[in-house]
Amino acid sequence: LAQGSIQEVIPLKSGYNKIKKRIVSNLDQAEYPTDFIVPFAPIIHDRINLEIARGCTRSCRFCQAGMIYRPVRERSCSTLERIAEKSLECTGWEEVSLLSLSSGDYSEVEELLYKLINKFSGDNIAISLPSLRAETLQSNLINAVKKVRKTGFTIAPEAGTDRLRRVINKGITESEILETCQRVFSAGWRSIKLYFMVGLPTETKEDLDGIIQLSEKVWAQGKGIGKKWHVNVSVATFIPKPHTPFQWASMIPAEEIKFRQAYLHSRLKRHKFNFRWQDPYTSVLEGIMARGDRRLSKVIEEAFRNGARFDGWRECFNYQIWEKAFQKMGLNSAFYLNKRKESEIFPWDHIDSGVKKEFLWKEFNNSSKEVEILDCRFNECQNCGVCDFKSIYPRIEFNKNEKNKKEANDQKIPSSAEINKVRLQFSKTEEARFLSHLEMSKVFARAVRRAKLPLKYTQGYHPQPRIIFGPPLPVGFESLAEFVDIELWDRIPVENLKAQLNRELPQGITVIFAKEIPLKTPAISDSVYEVSYAISVKENSNFKKFFPGEIERVIKKFLSRPSFLIKKNRRGEVVSLDIRPMIKDMVFIEDKDSIELTLRFPQAQSIRPDEIIGALWNISETKLKDISICKTNMKLKEKWAQT
Ligand code: SF4
Repeated sequence: LAQGSIQEVIPLKSGYNKIKKRIVSNLDQAEYPTDFIVPFAPIIHDRINLEIARGCTRSCRFCQAGMIYRPVRERSCSTLERIAEKSLECTGWEEVSLLSLSSGDYSEVEELLYKLINKFSGDNIAISLPSLRAETLQSNLINAVKKVRKTGFTIAPEAGTDRLRRVINKGITESEILETCQRVFSAGWRSIKLYFMVGLPTETKEDLDGIIQLSEKVWAQGKGIGKKWHVNVSVATFIPKPHTPFQWASMIPAEEIKFRQAYLHSRLKRHKFNFRWQDPYTSVLEGIMARGDRRLSKVIEEAFRNGARFDGWRECFNYQIWEKAFQKMGLNSAFYLNKRKESEIFPWDHIDSGVKKEFLWKEFNNSSKEVEILDCRFNECQNCGVCDFKSIYPRIEFNKNEKNKKEANDQKIPSSAEINKVRLQFSKTEEARFLSHLEMSKVFARAVRRAKLPLKYTQGYHPQPRIIFGPPLPVGFESLAEFVDIELWDRIPVENLKAQLNRELPQGITVIFAKEIPLKTPAISDSVYEVSYAISVKENSNFKKFFPGEIERVIKKFLSRPSFLIKKNRRGEVVSLDIRPMIKDMVFIEDKDSIELTLRFPQAQSIRPDEIIGALWNISETKLKDISICKTNMKLKEKWAQT
């Protein structure tokens, strides 16, 4: 239609008039993966994600997930315990994260937490709850959560005043938010993140002032806890989403977003708050896409052709490209942000989430009247249309389980008489040479756990496995002489330990020797005094061409000098370094086309073999990428501790 609305949705493929969402009615009977692929490099969700429930019926009117994943279906505690155990066994991960749209709403969350903590805390498996709503944080839960994590706490008031929270059906009042913050601070947290939105339907200046006042009040709750505390205020922009009651609402334009953000920024005192906001134009584009239709595909293609890439990254985002694309395609981008009529035909009307459009419209009207509705999981059905009450209905765990809320066990702390320290020599070759020092720590910790070896941990809030490596090997170098010390709280025959670990370690990492050593043996890094490397050129490169001239003559001349100064960039500053005393020996092995280099430690800690080669033969950094370096030997002061 002329103003941009749709007259009719005609499927591109005949027969696809209505797409109906499938619903898994009973999560306990659904398959759940336990043998995940465990990457060696850190990933975003570097842990076991255990979905404890699906759906949320709090009915926040802006929330798409809360509408399209209905009804609430909880997995039973016993199923979750079983899945967690199996997943830990298969992966060796050190953390289990309990996932759902609002984890604190899981009706047996305390019971579940205590069960998992009791079962796994002895092995130092961390249990985390990433999505908690403020009102679910009763004292018992805070105490349970305290045992499992101590990072910042996020509370989402969403709006600045109780009035606007009624409009969006947030179901929480200012006094409840403040009580929760008080409990969180008293329980020992030092940092609270408040999450708000600007541009919610009916928002006024009073609501913006409410964000400032509420943030001030939360900050004041931190007084008296005796230590420094932080309140982070994060402000997103409201985006009307399909399948929600606010799908008929308008979104504020970029200029208005900027104005409201600036209003808050100038009034939230900087010494108290860390203020974060979203780029207004990114939000506008998100708003356009959220309620977009087929016509936008041409705009996306045009923007792509004109260079739009990685638009989620602020430094890559250029809104002008998008504006031009809209113009060229003859589309009015403002239409997608407008308020819609009741009779509006939406381009997603043919996608049936189960929630009736009449229910959403009723809820849209309830919002302007500030009428709140209750959560159907604990109250009467609101008749949204999803449940058939035969197989599909809210499945809640509450009261199904026997109460077993014992205090969590503390970490098993063995007496030092039981602790056994083992030194391992291992090789790191092939693709494994690209794993960093940090990644190696994870690879070993997970392999030890998968091998079911009784690993010892440090004590404190964040227990760490007692796995201590020698000096870091630069990424890309191979090694036949890497060392690591592992502390166990039991004695395992070293040959068994070696075999068990080699079964679990990835390709390219192999334990060559294992040896029990006294607990008080000095750390590998303090003990190493000599390291040897073999330097060759990579396949398809000619050694003689790479090292022009007489190799022996260059080496001999270098070794005869008392000093050899090179320039090195250290944290942005160019410094002179005398590398000669760092080098014990250098030999050319002609039949292997290889140079053997032996460095003295700790003197050579700040230099890499490739830098030495570059300086001696005047080879550029780019060209140095053509050489292969393999650590062949590492000598330790305590001969008896050498494997
Ligand atoms: S049909 Fe009723 S019980 Fe089922 S999700 Fe909707 S409101 Fe809740």
